[in-house]
Amino acid sequence: MHDLVPAGVSPPSAARSLLFRGALLVTQDPQRRILRGDLRVEGGRIASVSPHDSGSADEEVDASGFAIVPGFVNAHTHVAMSLLRGVADDRELAGFLETLFAVDARRTEADVEVGARAGIAEMLLSGTTSFLDLYYFEDAIARAVESLGIRGFLGWAVLDSELTTQKGVPIDNARAFLERWKGHRLVAPLVAPQGVYVCGKETWLRAKEVAERAGTIVHYHLAETRREVHEHQQKTGRRPVVWLEEIGFFGSRSVAAHAVWLTGEEIGILARRNVGIAHCPSSNLKLASGGVAPVVELRAAGATVGLGTDSVASNNSLSMLREMHLAGLVQKNQRWDATVLSAQQLLDLATLEGARLLGREADLGSLEVGKQADFALFRLDHPTLLPARPEAIVSHLAYSAADEAIDSVYVGGDPVVRHRTLVRGDWSTIRRDGEAAAEALWSARPKP
Ligand SMILES: [Zn+2]
Repeated sequence: MHDLVPAGVSPPSAARSLLFRGALLVTQDPQRRILRGDLRVEGGRIASVSPHDSGSADEEVDASGFAIVPGFVNAHTHVAMSLLRGVADDRELAGFLETLFAVDARRTEADVEVGARAGIAEMLLSGTTSFLDLYYFEDAIARAVESLGIRGFLGWAVLDSELTTQKGVPIDNARAFLERWKGHRLVAPLVAPQGVYVCGKETWLRAKEVAERAGTIVHYHLAETRREVHEHQQKTGRRPVVWLEEIGFFGSRSVAAHAVWLTGEEIGILARRNVGIAHCPSSNLKLASGGVAPVVELRAAGATVGLGTDSVASNNSLSMLREMHLAGLVQKNQRWDATVLSAQQLLDLATLEGARLLGREADLGSLEVGKQADFALFRLDHPTLLPARPEAIVSHLAYSAADEAIDSVYVGGDPVVRHRTLVRGDWSTIRRDGEAAAEALWSARPKP
């Protein structure tokens, strides 16, 4: 049994000072400097980034064989679905959802926690230090976040009461979840309308109201498929983005996942209304959403775009390195233009822009003094990083680096992965629990 941390109480992160010496620092600062030097961490935050630090520290690390890279921000996932990898491959969205709903109806809070632990382990081992989630039983996911040491921005899924399988009223459940976890060091609770296909006007506006009162973002799916857009038009006479604008939903900070099927007018609305976009290319390609999200136009209009993996039922990986690689290739090929979405821009999407989506750009997303010490150490001797030259490191991160090149990961100055081993959890236990919990879920699959 895990104890919830009472509201307002945040346990201190690493009080010790840490000094990483001689690393290749991929700062992601405003000048995007890459430098050989030393990185100091104090009280869980970055205290200095310099060519040479002449001071001492409680712990000094020879980091000369490593690149230190800001932790990735996965801007859209359903982490607890890690037990459902491969459960509904090679189907259209409708058939995919039919299988997912049948399995989902069998889920318990206990197996959601098991699934979340497995997914978080996969994320930490692939360099992700923050993620934005959309699901239910988010208390179970919050407990997994707390115990394994990642940062979780956890959206409690809300939809119209008559359509939910949740006990009670979803928006009230969300509000109670926000109340239970507010002020936590690693868990940022928020409210997450599932999408226009299950949320009416009332649900959207109440979600906005809850978020505004709590000072959080709202997270939701939007304009993922042509079918969603078409059916919403049939029902309301408006495309989803235009409809959300008309009902008065936009205005406070929010993050929309997918945003594939947009008109120029809708791109303008999203940019003007400060709506962040979580681009999920793997999921869109695998489910054949068709078309390609207008990432270049969204960015040109001034919208913030981050990268999300979506769940492993539709990806089937939580690796942000894979997502960067794919995001770049798809945009280039689609436009017959190799210059769009450069390696540097892809790394921005996975780090700084993700932090901006969460409203945490002052605190996360780069190696700058005062920010949280969230970063990964990449082995420079890994084959996928050869030649390990400073001028090529960003290219390698965007296009070639494998998850296995990541040696260690820190969140708030605390080690969470060391030499490819989880520090605060035991993978063999997580795996065993995951296999056992998957047994019941997989048996609930409808016959194809
Ligand atoms: Zn999703």
